[in-house]
Amino acid sequence: MKKIALLGSTGSIGKQVLEVVDRYPEKFKIASLCCNKSAKELANQIEKYRPAVAGLTCAEKASEITNLPAGVNLYTGENALLHCVLSEADIIVVAVVGFCGLAPVIEACKMGKTIALANKESLVAGGKLVMELAKKYGATIIPIDSEHSAIWQCLHFNRQAPFKKIILTASGGALRDIPINELQNVTPEIALNHPTWKMGAKITVDCATMMNKGLEVMEACWLFDCKPSDIEVVIHPQSIVHSMVEYADNALIAQLSNPSMDIPIQLALSYPERLASATNELDFSLLSLDFNKPSLERYPCLALALEAANKGMNYPCALSGANEIAVELFLKGKIKYTQISKYVRYALDNTVELKPTYENLVKTDYLAREAVFTAYKENKID
Ligand code: MG
Repeated sequence: MKKIALLGSTGSIGKQVLEVVDRYPEKFKIASLCCNKSAKELANQIEKYRPAVAGLTCAEKASEITNLPAGVNLYTGENALLHCVLSEADIIVVAVVGFCGLAPVIEACKMGKTIALANKESLVAGGKLVMELAKKYGATIIPIDSEHSAIWQCLHFNRQAPFKKIILTASGGALRDIPINELQNVTPEIALNHPTWKMGAKITVDCATMMNKGLEVMEACWLFDCKPSDIEVVIHPQSIVHSMVEYADNALIAQLSNPSMDIPIQLALSYPERLASATNELDFSLLSLDFNKPSLERYPCLALALEAANKGMNYPCALSGANEIAVELFLKGKIKYTQISKYVRYALDNTVELKPTYENLVKTDYLAREAVFTAYKENKID
């Protein structure tokens, strides 16, 4: 029986982790549950899974959790995530969104844990730090993101295996067929209508801008010890091929399935075992697969992310923090879709290069967010 610490239990990935636990109750047990502010939903999860520890980051919502079952320790406030990284857990699932994922990942690394990682920012911003700590303390990082899980599978679960190139596939997002000159009129509703994946709002917008793919390039560099130039991004609208690895002899290994997060999530928990999943078999009679190169004119955020990836240091952290705020402003209807990349550009241009220590990353993240807020308040972006 594997004991799971689940950070981000009420989000899209967290709920699917619980579905896997429901499917295989004899194999998995929830040891801790933590979320940001969905207190009522957390209360229902606590009632059902009876974890030893539960956490709610947003302390003001604690009053919504009534009738806490005996034997459950509830922590609230900003350290709630850290309290849920339990020493008795076998797997720490980090499925929280944003920079706040970095601290619990660092904690889990120091405990030498197996970390099933869905949080992007911890590797994008803190990749160097996290990978060094994981090595030092013998922690294992298993990717949950579908592309990185695919690459890991194509490498036969050996993240150190030598390869020539990674081909990272992207759906191209909800706006891939809209003429470039009409993108400025895109509303949040249109941007949130993703063609193949059902995900949270922030990541759906990141898919449309392809910032998400840029962040995934950075994550792949850390996870598979390579450079941005070793990774090719390819648009594949059907989202059937989840990524590929090319070897020295030009043989390509690809991982295919119907688009579903169920496979990578379950595999991260069940590895090295493969278990029956809820995803349907591929029907080849219905398949037709297309691949094409992304246009950096259509996807300026991808270009910015690749620029930050090549610069390294604290630039990826600044890019990611600035993007979070710019996407938030877009989702609130305050800025145009086409301004997202301009705000990120502004924040990057105002970033001072620093070594990526934890303290410097916290500072960089804060300053990049502030740069976007200031630029918005002072109307600096056309
Ligand atoms: Mg992905």
